[in-house]
Amino acid sequence: MAKALFSDIFGANISSSNAVQACTVEHCGLNMEERTLDITLKSENYITAEERNKLHNALLAALRLNSCEITFIYAENALNSAACADIIAEIKVKNAALNGYFNGAEFKLTDGNVGITLKYGGYEKITHSGFENAFRAIIRERFNMEITVSFDGQLDAVEMEMPKVTAPEHIERKQAPKADKPAAPKNEIKFEKREEKPDNGIVYLDNPQIFYGRGINTNTKKMIEVTSEDTEICCWGEVFGTEVRTINTKRGESNILTFSFSDYTNSLTANMFIDPKRMGEVAPIKDGAFVLINGTYEFDNYKNEFRVKPKAMALLQKYEETDSHEGEKRVELHCHTNMSAKDAVSSAADIVNQAYKWGHKAVAITDHGVVQAYPAAAGAVKAIRKGGGQFKVIYGVEAYFVDDINNDISGLNAKQIAKYRCHQIILVKNLTGLKNLYKLVSDAHLNNFKGRPITLRSKLDTLREGLVIGSACEQGELYKAIVDEKPEEELLRIADYYDYLEIQPLGNNEFMVRESSYPDKKDKKTGAVIPNRFRKVTSDEVIKDFNRKVVELADKLGKPVVATGDVHFLKKSDDIIRKILMAGQGFDDFDNQAPLYLKTTDEMLNDFDYFGERAKEFVIDNPNKIADMIDDDVIPVPDGNYPPVIELSLIHI
Ligand SMILES: [Zn+2]
Ligand SMILES: [Zn+2]
Repeated sequence: MAKALFSDIFGANISSSNAVQACTVEHCGLNMEERTLDITLKSENYITAEERNKLHNALLAALRLNSCEITFIYAENALNSAACADIIAEIKVKNAALNGYFNGAEFKLTDGNVGITLKYGGYEKITHSGFENAFRAIIRERFNMEITVSFDGQLDAVEMEMPKVTAPEHIERKQAPKADKPAAPKNEIKFEKREEKPDNGIVYLDNPQIFYGRGINTNTKKMIEVTSEDTEICCWGEVFGTEVRTINTKRGESNILTFSFSDYTNSLTANMFIDPKRMGEVAPIKDGAFVLINGTYEFDNYKNEFRVKPKAMALLQKYEETDSHEGEKRVELHCHTNMSAKDAVSSAADIVNQAYKWGHKAVAITDHGVVQAYPAAAGAVKAIRKGGGQFKVIYGVEAYFVDDINNDISGLNAKQIAKYRCHQIILVKNLTGLKNLYKLVSDAHLNNFKGRPITLRSKLDTLREGLVIGSACEQGELYKAIVDEKPEEELLRIADYYDYLEIQPLGNNEFMVRESSYPDKKDKKTGAVIPNRFRKVTSDEVIKDFNRKVVELADKLGKPVVATGDVHFLKKSDDIIRKILMAGQGFDDFDNQAPLYLKTTDEMLNDFDYFGERAKEFVIDNPNKIADMIDDDVIPVPDGNYPPVIELSLIHI
């Protein structure tokens, strides 16, 4: 695969200079549990400190990261005068002794030598400061180049007014800089429920609840439009990365509150000193809160970036998307969490809470072959019930299923078995089913790990009690057979094995239309032509026909059809995160993300409107019937007792 460009992966989501957009992504490691990103970019052009900072902040904001490590490597010809000046500015930050001597310096690059023409002397000081080593090390690291450094021009000290050195504030840290929880606010700010969507689709700006300072200006500016010319800012954003540090000052203990906030065009970082006794005043500042901030915008020499010093702050009401469908709502029976091998982004708790808030009565958690999300899901339900709510988690997996009854797979290696592998949804109905599922998962990991944990049909047949089996996505046995135009009897035989048949929104399978024009592939060894399976999928209409076929088979067999979303992220806006996860794993089509977010009842009804009246049966009635079949008291992790199978299955992840 050709290396992806920065613009391919981040393009519309991260605004940055053309030079950054044109970088190739050499490495991209996103850890969704820790929310950290480690990215290496290769550039033909030097990227200045200001651009790097901007990029860093934009990535933090768009991906809600806790930390982001960006490494730039450059082509040799990117080393120019501007790059030299920028690197020197960077060294100067750490070495105040150099301040001033490089003012107006000129750089000449010839045959691996950087000639520096000084204007204000200081050669002696520079050579004794370790400058040359630092400079050469940075060039080695970023340009993979060994250089020499020479000086000419005004080498001896001249009488001059040295620019003032702003020494970093001396901060004596007390113990480990651990974040204390801000104290509880004096009066919790509560907003009235609102229905209408705000203009920006995210937050209401018309009812700011001021909690710090006097009076607040609501004439906000987009963060992306804030420049170094601005001295005052008025911006709104979602708070993240909140940190409180206690330091000792001459006048006793003081807290430094640092936090970032983002309006999703960019992010800003704010910090402020605050008396530990007055922490209650800033209690509304916590991760996930939306705030409006008026403050000064100044360059922090110590941090080497612009910081906001808040003067007035108000809490804003966030727009909550609701499932406004009248009457019974849908139930999602196919949901991946961030425990699914690296390609899903939402935590089980987030999914459970969202479904509950929307008035869905249940949600199924179906990670690929693993059960690691169960404790988190169970914890979320427990909290809901504790608060007097009613909700049900349906525990399940999306198994890698191989039908070893109708296919002879003896003696096949992992690669050959992969051809028979299909996705399959297994839901737990009761405690017997839970035990059987644990046995199946353990067996798949311990005895049948063939590149993936394989669930054999022969095993499932003996352990099927208490389980409900669904036909899964386009990689399911049935859907694959339909795409491959298998004869009717075979389709009926396959469909008959399942308790319910799944259909999914067109967007989930739109990639087939894109791929229909791809050339056939050739087997590298044998030269045999591997025909493009999607050749005939030239429009959405063909995908609709696949779903119509599923319904036809279900009707013949008297099986329920269930519309599922194959959820991989919670919000529409999270698709960028999935894109990066997939790019990091080297997938070619990461740029075409299917809309695999948790959908409201009306969104889902819309997706299946071509079934007319029956859409409600597939989207609402049947999923609810299946949810009703599931026992309420299936608790996957008895308090303080972790089933050993979970630990066993962890070994292979
Ligand atoms: Zn699947
Ligand atoms: Zn799936």
